Amino acid sequence: MQDELSTQDGLVFKGERVVIPDALQAEITQRIHSTHIGTEGCLRRARDCIDWHGMNDHIKKYIAKCDICRKVDAKQQKETLRPHELTDRPWTKVGTDLFNFDGREYLITMDYYSNFWEIDHLPDTKSSTVIRKLKNHFARQGIPEVVFSDNGPQYSSTEFASFSQKWDLKHKTSSPGYPQSNGKAESAVKTAKRLMRKAKLAGQDPYLALLDHRNTPTQGLDTSPAQRLLSRRTRTLIPMSDSLLQPKVTKNNQGLTKNRERQSKYYNRTARDMDNLNPGDSVRVQPFEPHGLWDKARVCKTLGDRSYEVEMDNGRVLRRNCRHLRRAVEVDLKIPSTPEPVRLNSGPSQGDLQSTTTKSGRVVHQPRYLKDYVCS
Ligand SMILES: [Zn+2]
Repeated sequence: MQDELSTQDGLVFKGERVVIPDALQAEITQRIHSTHIGTEGCLRRARDCIDWHGMNDHIKKYIAKCDICRKVDAKQQKETLRPHELTDRPWTKVGTDLFNFDGREYLITMDYYSNFWEIDHLPDTKSSTVIRKLKNHFARQGIPEVVFSDNGPQYSSTEFASFSQKWDLKHKTSSPGYPQSNGKAESAVKTAKRLMRKAKLAGQDPYLALLDHRNTPTQGLDTSPAQRLLSRRTRTLIPMSDSLLQPKVTKNNQGLTKNRERQSKYYNRTARDMDNLNPGDSVRVQPFEPHGLWDKARVCKTLGDRSYEVEMDNGRVLRRNCRHLRRAVEVDLKIPSTPEPVRLNSGPSQGDLQSTTTKSGRVVHQPRYLKDYVCS
C-alpha cells in the first residue's frame, strides 16, 4: 500500500484517512467507542476516517468486552432507511414525538431524509412549549413541508393548528388514515433513550454521544445523518483530515438493497449463535422489566426445547428460552479452548475451514456452513 501513503503535518495518510501508529491505537479505539455506539457503527465510523493494520479486529475485540454495551444491549437496532420513506431532499418531512427519560420530558424532532434527530428538554409539556422548540429547529433548518406527530394534546390543540397555518406546513397526525405515519419518530425515541441510558450508566457526556451518533455512517449507506442533513461531517474527537471535513453534497438513495441483505445476514447469525449453548457457558440474560439490564449468568442445564436453566451471578436460578439469552462474549474470549462463539462481521475465508486427509490420501474440506464448528 506504499503508493497510497502520504504525509502532511507529521501525520501519515492513507488516501484521506489518518494512519494511526501502534502507540496510539489503544487510545483511538477507546475514543471510537467512548460513547458506546454499537460494533458495526464504530467500524463504519472508524473506516470513514482512520486506518491501521488490523483495525477492524482490534475494535471488535474491544467492544465485545465492553461492560456498558453488554448491559444495555438491545435487540438488533435498525436505523435504516426504507424506500417508501425516502424524500428527495433534507428536512421536508419531519416527525416529532414526546418521551420521558429519568423523570424528565423530552421532545424529539426527526428528519425523514437524513435520520438526523434533535432532542429538547421540555420544562413542561404544554403545546406552546413544544411549538417554541419546533420553531427553534425550523428557524435553523427551514420549515418542513409536512410534520408528523401522534394525537397527543400538544399536537391536537388549536394553538398547534394555528402554528401550522401561519408557518405554512402540513400537519399529519397518526389518525386512522395514517396509522403508521409517526413510526420514524418513535424509532428515533428508542435510539435516543438507549444512547442516554448508556451515557448515564458510563457517567459520560450525552451530547458527545449525540455528536458521535450523528457522524456514524448508517448501515448500508456510505453517509452519516450529519452528512445527509448538513452535507458535511462535523468535527468529533476522532482525528480527521481537512478534506473529509469539507462540505460535500451526497445523494441518499444508494445501497438500499445491499442494506436488506445485510439485515437478513444479521438475523441468521444471531439465530445460529444461540444454537450451541452448553453447561458452563457464560451468557447475558434479557431483562423482562422495561429498564432492566442484561446481567451475567452461567448455563447450568440444557432443558431441551431450546430452553436452559441459568444461574445468575447473585445465585438466582432461572429458566430461559434461548431467545432471551445472549452469549457473554467478553468472558468467552478469554477461554482459548472454545471456538470464538460470535463472529462479528466475518467474511468467508478459506483459512477458517478445516480439512483432513483420508487414508487414501484424499483431502476432505469441511463444508463452509460448518466453519464455526470443530468437527471430529
Ligand atoms: Zn460500550
